[in-house]
This record gives sequence, C-alpha cells and structure tokens, in this order.
Amino acid sequence: MSTWLLDLDGVVWLSGEEIPGSAAAIALLRDVGEDVVFVTNNSAPTISVLQRRLERIDIASDPKDLITAAQAAASLVPEGGSVVAIADGGVREALTQRSAVVADDGHADAVIVGWTESFTYETLATAATAVRSGARFIGTNADPTHPTPAGLRPGTGAIIAAVEVASGRACEFAGKPNDAMARLVRQRAGSISMVVGDQVATDGAFAGVLGAPFSLVLSGVDHLAPVGVAAAPTLHHVVTEWLAANR
Ligand SMILES: [Mg+2]
Repeated sequence: MSTWLLDLDGVVWLSGEEIPGSAAAIALLRDVGEDVVFVTNNSAPTISVLQRRLERIDIASDPKDLITAAQAAASLVPEGGSVVAIADGGVREALTQRSAVVADDGHADAVIVGWTESFTYETLATAATAVRSGARFIGTNADPTHPTPAGLRPGTGAIIAAVEVASGRACEFAGKPNDAMARLVRQRAGSISMVVGDQVATDGAFAGVLGAPFSLVLSGVDHLAPVGVAAAPTLHHVVTEWLAANR
C-alpha cells in the first residue's frame, strides 16, 4: 500500500464546499488500495472538526488520516512546556496532547502563531514580549492568504509578520514545506505515491522535501502551472489520469 498526501483547502474543498469530484476521486484511490492522508496547513480546526467537514462531503476518515500544521508546531514544544498561543482550537488541542500549558503572560518556553480571527493588540504584545524574553518562536505556516469563495483572506503569515516586527525576531515554520511536518508524514506514511496541492510554493516544495511526485491542481490559489510542473484542473483529473497510467 502506498500513500497519497492531499492538501485540503483548494484541493478537496473551498471553505468546506466540495470541489466537484474530490470525494469520488478519494473513493477511487481507496478502491485500488491506496492510502489517503490529508495534510493541511490550516491550524485552526480541531481534528474532529476536520473529520466532520470531510464527513459532510461523504469522505470517511480516521484521526490518523489527518496531519496538520498545528500538530507540527506542537511537536516542536517540549513535553509539558508553557506556550503563548495566538491560535485557535487545532493548536490548543495539539498542545494538550503534548501536555503543554497555554500561558497568558509574557513568560513561556515557546510562542506559537497559527491562524485565528481572535487577534488583538494585547495578544500581539504578549507574544512579542515572550519572544523578546527568549521563547522559541514557532509559526504554523507562512501562507500570506487563504482562498475563500469570496476571494483571498489574510492568512497566518500576515499575523506572524506582525509578531516578527514587534519582537524583532524571525519565526521558525512548522507546517508544509518544513521539516516538522515532514517528520510527522514520515512517521505516518511509508512510500508516497503522490502529493497533491494547489500551491507550488508550499505543497510543491513539500513534495520536494519528501522526495515524492507532485501534482498541482488549479482549483485553489495557483491558477497557472510553472514550466515543468504537472498540473490538472482538479483532484479528480489527477486521480483518473494516474489510474489510467498505473492500473
Ligand atoms: Mg491549499
């Protein structure tokens, strides 16, 4: 059995709405015995929320089928450490699983910045103070924007930039295409058949780190394929072409 690593936003769904054919494509892969793992830089939802969103579009999943930038970020925090988190439930859940304590003053082992809409001047000040005091500064992902049906919205990278400017330090990134995420994938998957994503800079680079083939889909952020990058309109096209060539 070999594994497909699928990005979620822009590949499986857009803001939770199925990109046509993605559930059918995943069923086709599972029918021929391929393993499907969802790998997302969205750090906000918990694993059970992601599973419910998949369920709503008729995609069954097990918690072990999901790898998130929230988990990758939490993996860089020492067991039982204290963390200032500018982040939503996904990061908080992953920290709980590492027995880390979320701190709300400026003294902590680490600062994690993930995607959240709860971002204020005070949280910025708390995070910047902790970073200046020597906390390990971890960002879930650098994505400057994320795609929605209404267009691009500010992403985690935009929030991280504020903390970097205020603290005078650059963060280390945990999500795709970085090593922390790659380590989680290697713990979960053996051989990788394909990485499918909608962004060359993150998903394509991640495939490169893993030494795995990459297919770009044009249903999300990137609408043009660079020369030499295989591209298809949607996941369903990628899967049917792969099955025709390999089965
Ligand atoms: Mg994406």
